[in-house]
Amino acid sequence: MTEPTFDSLSPLDGRVVGTFPIHDSEDVQKVVERARTAAPEWRTLGFPGRRSILVAWRRYVARHAAELAGVMRAETGKPLGDAQLEILLALDHIGWAAKNAERVLGRRRVPSGILMLNQESSVERVPFGVVGVIGPWNYPVFTPLGSITYALAAGNTVVFKPSEYTPAVGQWLARSFAEVGGDPSVFQLVTGFGATGSALCRAGVGKIAFTGSTATGKVVMAACAESLTPVVIEAGGKDALLVDEDADLDAAAEAAVWGAYSNAGQTCIGIERVYVHERVYDQFMKKTTARVREIRAGTDEKATLGPITMPKQTAIIRDHIADAVSSGGTLVLGGAPERGVVFPPTLLRDVPEFSDAVREETFGPTLVVNRVATMDEAVERANAVRYGLSGSVFSRKHGRDLASRIRGGMIAINSVISFAAVPGLPFGGVGDSGFGRIHGDDGLREFTYPKAITRQRFPLLTLTSMRRSGRVDRLVGRIIRLLFG
Ligand code: NDP
Repeated sequence: MTEPTFDSLSPLDGRVVGTFPIHDSEDVQKVVERARTAAPEWRTLGFPGRRSILVAWRRYVARHAAELAGVMRAETGKPLGDAQLEILLALDHIGWAAKNAERVLGRRRVPSGILMLNQESSVERVPFGVVGVIGPWNYPVFTPLGSITYALAAGNTVVFKPSEYTPAVGQWLARSFAEVGGDPSVFQLVTGFGATGSALCRAGVGKIAFTGSTATGKVVMAACAESLTPVVIEAGGKDALLVDEDADLDAAAEAAVWGAYSNAGQTCIGIERVYVHERVYDQFMKKTTARVREIRAGTDEKATLGPITMPKQTAIIRDHIADAVSSGGTLVLGGAPERGVVFPPTLLRDVPEFSDAVREETFGPTLVVNRVATMDEAVERANAVRYGLSGSVFSRKHGRDLASRIRGGMIAINSVISFAAVPGLPFGGVGDSGFGRIHGDDGLREFTYPKAITRQRFPLLTLTSMRRSGRVDRLVGRIIRLLFG
């Protein structure tokens, strides 16, 4: 019987980029079993052994970045420059995870306290064994590697299920790992649709790292609940950028435009809403509008805004634009095209807060700019959605205060998205944006569990004995009063 397959199509011209197997649960089980068998040896390599393979892998990816960028462009439609930028960020993370794993996860001594002063206490961080990574298509290198490299550095083997829209990128990543001498069973790929991802959740892996939409995140979590498999969920967002009256308006407009339209707005931490102090609203709108006019949407090499990768997303983007306008908002630039997957950069103003364009993730090249009377109002509106991923504030005097009041896992002050490029910072959200963290110390710990160990150094008062005497109990009474009374 021939194996069922699917084609990955390019949103640039509809051509077939590659044909991939649709792995069913039996196939996934076999791959996970191989990963499980490979896990002890990978763990035994220790931090230095894994580090040298990961660093060699990073060098390989860097040397072949142009080739990888080509595959990314073919599958997602993103401009080559954007693909290259994504690779740069991912490379930094591979190196950081490899170099910092031992510091973060190595055995750590813990004070035993006065009651247990005869014990030596320590914490070891133990890898889960096999980690299943389920990834999205929008940043098919940066996003999954945020889990994969940290899981590998921590001593796990990985089975990766890329999005059905970007399997060729996933295949390139797994192959490149094997190219540098990494055991091919340490980092493997399974391909297919949602059912393949679902099978991975049920395949007995030690942990699932999911990045994708909130709706799928809930389904993944429910599947993992059956076997109490822990999960980290990196889901969607509806991030806001706040502009105070004392902000550098040129910088704020530049950041809003990049945050909203880079990667055609298909960015989990992209800016979809801007709240601007009314005293500078008109000026900000003028600067933003001028910048949006410079953007060129298309599928050709010169376009700075590419097509929508996932055809079904176009309906959501259209609906949000229509809803914004029909509920009383003003369309300043752009608007939904009749057909096709190339959307012009779309700028909307004064959109009512109840509109879907303000409340739900659009995931397209649209930006809503609303005015506020005070920055308190801006914070309140920014926090009034079910998501809590990231955000940005522009203010000369109140940046830190505003940042601390925004509900979200990551905030940039006087810039946009910069936290994602700092490998030492944790990445993740709250609410409908998910939980758990990738990147940084927390991202390494996420792929291990803590094991507490005590070693008795010398015998002391034996409290844990069925033969404990009345004298010892009386002593315990005295200790309670002495220490805590
Ligand atoms: P989806 O939720 O549609 O898919 C994500 C992954 O889950 C894909 O590999 C998909 O496979 C797989 N999947 C689908 N159904 C199931 C299932 N039942 N069980 C297990 N796996 C399943 O997200 P998109 O790929 O469309 O990505 C866009 C979303 O990702 C946006 O909401 C965006 O905000 C979010 N995102 C979040 C990030 C973050 O770090 N917080 C970063 C990047 C994106 P298939 O594609 O084959 O259906």
